[in-house]
Amino acid sequence: MYKDENSGDELEAIRAGRLDADLEMAQMNAEADAWHAVRDLGYCNHGSAVGYRNPPLYEAQKLLKPGQYACTAGCGTVFADDDDWYAQLDDPMANPVPLPARTPAPATPH
Ligand SMILES: [Zn+2]
Repeated sequence: MYKDENSGDELEAIRAGRLDADLEMAQMNAEADAWHAVRDLGYCNHGSAVGYRNPPLYEAQKLLKPGQYACTAGCGTVFADDDDWYAQLDDPMANPVPLPARTPAPATPH
């Protein structure tokens, strides 16, 4: 099956491709871990948010102006627009927002 050079090269290329994919996956996992670790450090990673809505559906939306978003992952930060939210979602430690002190909330299981 591996008689000529071409198939060997092909295999090598396939192996290299898999290695790239593995590295990419490892990097993505590392980034996801770092993103989740932000919360362990006591900062919000803004993992969820709600946009302006009239009439408001959620408590957080009552404070919003059209176009704004409010973090619902714990800190309640108001973002100027979706770009602002995505930027802080991408890199929460660029402008770290401490999470409010954690209090047990048995009524809302996670
Ligand atoms: Zn937040």
